[in-house]
Amino acid sequence: MKLYIVADMEGVAGVVSSDEIGGPPTWDFEQARRQFTSEVVAVCQGALEAGVEEVYVNDFHGNGRNLMYDQLPSQTMIIRGGFRRTSGFDLLDRSFGGLVLLGAHARSGSAIGLIPHTYSNKLQFEIFGQPVGEFDLLALIAGEMKVPTILISGDDKTVEQASTNLPSTIGVVTKWALGTRGAMCIHPGQVLVLLKEEIARAVKNVASIEPPAITPPINLTIKPTDLSIGENLNWIPRLKALPNGSFEFVGESMVEIANMIYGVTLLTSAKA
Ligand SMILES: [Zn+2]
Repeated sequence: MKLYIVADMEGVAGVVSSDEIGGPPTWDFEQARRQFTSEVVAVCQGALEAGVEEVYVNDFHGNGRNLMYDQLPSQTMIIRGGFRRTSGFDLLDRSFGGLVLLGAHARSGSAIGLIPHTYSNKLQFEIFGQPVGEFDLLALIAGEMKVPTILISGDDKTVEQASTNLPSTIGVVTKWALGTRGAMCIHPGQVLVLLKEEIARAVKNVASIEPPAITPPINLTIKPTDLSIGENLNWIPRLKALPNGSFEFVGESMVEIANMIYGVTLLTSAKA
């Protein structure tokens, strides 16, 4: 079996602020990065011991250059680098037996959940009227390729949000959110133990975990949190402006939906 790990940092044990996981290096970035790497290593080791043969790890946070990749087991292939059209699902295809969403975070607009956003905190997205976050999108893309999401880790709010669309996915809670910028954290060493145990359980039970299915045409709603940024979205021909300031798009596949989400994220973060 081949395993694909999307590794994000917001949901890693101990992380409570975007300062410690991005931008210019801060004293606590090194600690967050070390824990991030250790969590990926724990999942790789647990998976390999449970019979997985190949592991692809996608460094999915920020500039994609966070993992201390020399620490990973030698069987792993590492995908890293800046934001691109296929970020988070590069080279993912039907040959993979499972997807892991490590260090995931809550959706844009969540009142509780650490550092909530969906690519940007200026936009909220809905598919068929249901709010979606980065983890939903990646799980749905994988689902389109018949790849089940076997494990998700992050704060309790993220795991709770995931349980609606991914009811059979195993969740590992790393901390309990106290609003959006504080948490009660499980000891980082204990999180490594949990991840290793739970990935082994997930790999053994992979046959019972259904990939999420969605039938095209897929309806996407884009809701700008600030109406002024919606102005830029009027430039996109296939986006329909709604009277309430939101936009609607109909896609023929989840990859097409992701292309639109990534495109509008970049467009609305561009400085005019
Ligand atoms: Zn991130």
